[in-house]
Amino acid sequence: MTPDEFRKHAHEVVEWMAEYMEHIEDYPVKSAVKPGEIFKKIQDAPPSEPESFSALMKDFEEIIMPGITHWQSPNFFAYFPANTSPPSILAEMLTSALSAQCMIWETSPAAAELEERMMIWLRDLIGLPPDFEGVIQDTASTSTLAAIITAREKISKFMVNEEGFKNAGTLRVYCSDQTHSSVEKAVKIAGIGRKNLVKVAVNDDYSMNQEKLREAITEDKKNGFIPCCIIATLGTTGTASVDPLRAIGEISRENGIWLHVDAAMGGTALILPEFQWMLDGREYIDSFVFNPHKWMFTSFDCSAFFIRDTESLIKTFEILPEYLKTRTRGKVNDYRDWGIPLGRRFRALKLWSVIRSYGTNGLRDKIRYHIRLASRLAENISTEPDFELLAPVSLNLVCFRYHPSGITEDKLNSANELLNHTLNDTGRIYLSHTMLNDRYTLRMVTGQTNVTLDHVEKAWDLIRDKARKIKF
Ligand SMILES: *Cc1c(COP(=O)(O)O)cnc(C)c1O
Repeated sequence: MTPDEFRKHAHEVVEWMAEYMEHIEDYPVKSAVKPGEIFKKIQDAPPSEPESFSALMKDFEEIIMPGITHWQSPNFFAYFPANTSPPSILAEMLTSALSAQCMIWETSPAAAELEERMMIWLRDLIGLPPDFEGVIQDTASTSTLAAIITAREKISKFMVNEEGFKNAGTLRVYCSDQTHSSVEKAVKIAGIGRKNLVKVAVNDDYSMNQEKLREAITEDKKNGFIPCCIIATLGTTGTASVDPLRAIGEISRENGIWLHVDAAMGGTALILPEFQWMLDGREYIDSFVFNPHKWMFTSFDCSAFFIRDTESLIKTFEILPEYLKTRTRGKVNDYRDWGIPLGRRFRALKLWSVIRSYGTNGLRDKIRYHIRLASRLAENISTEPDFELLAPVSLNLVCFRYHPSGITEDKLNSANELLNHTLNDTGRIYLSHTMLNDRYTLRMVTGQTNVTLDHVEKAWDLIRDKARKIKF
């Protein structure tokens, strides 16, 4: 493709993107294709001769688009948001054109230094203490893995990295039974073993029970296990519950255990002064992750990982083959030593674009509005006698179910499952579910970039209408 051809097609693509944004609500939110349907439509083998970009665009429209679920639709209420925004998309276009490989400072000084500055901006915005340093990772899963491996190295005096687990004893990691599955995955990958992940019971509001945590640690120490890391969550996946950070922090400090905080989704709410209470106990935190790629209008992927003891992080991950030795080493941040992959995308640019474009007040207004939408929805649900809330609502997530009187639990579960599928099959909205105390629970998240009260109210009308048509 020549530069001139590129220019022509790029304009077409930008036009397509703007049209998509304008008409996103015309698409069914959740793709309705059947397994294998798209695969069958794609050529069996690559073309031997060059094809035009127009041919690709045609197939993109006809083959790919029907198989897309529209995460950027304001009627997307499932899972957690994976928001983007126009300023993020524009910056991603520039990043893509540069396609710089930002593994070390020297391979693009601006990428490293913008990343350093953006992490300071974010750290201060969410209220982490100034002795934290940050680095952008691809996902919260990777950030948490980096935290657990660093905790493992710290407790084993960097022995596991050198010799394996031979003399390391049995390490233990603690989280609540509501903690995200990425923690279990990290514990497996870090070689600690899934059996050594202790899932502590929760309180009625689904936050970690601190007494149970203390008991588990005491019991483990009596039995010769080595407590290595505690994971506290601010905004769990099931219900967005918030673990009691100060109490957990005190336990971690008393026992010399690494404290990692997973605020992948909920962390964005920390930009609001009225949600700073979630971070009470911040002085005990060793590492912290939140994803601007969830609720903060920044395209996937962009996970902000903060750590106090960067020296231990770097000692855990650094490698120095001859071809990566530079004259600036030690004077600048070479982020390849701050995590797992060597190669790194230039992710800081989209953050810079988003934060400058909204301004901190603009970001706060939007997040506050999303939280208000959730509490408004919760109010509406609580006034209907045949619906019930199944968890307290604090952030952008409402957990509820249809519950007409006189129906057994068993039937309620299948009715709510049916309701979920019926709603999603309309293509008008998309909800997901969880199980809470064996109850099938609908989850509705009001955190999409462009969601408004009107979208939420129309969705709620649809939910009531479909629910009341269910036959028992
Ligand atoms: C979404 C989420 C994760 C996983 O995030 P990825 O960036 O997709 O790895 C982890 N923890 C919590 C609490 C989450 O909400």
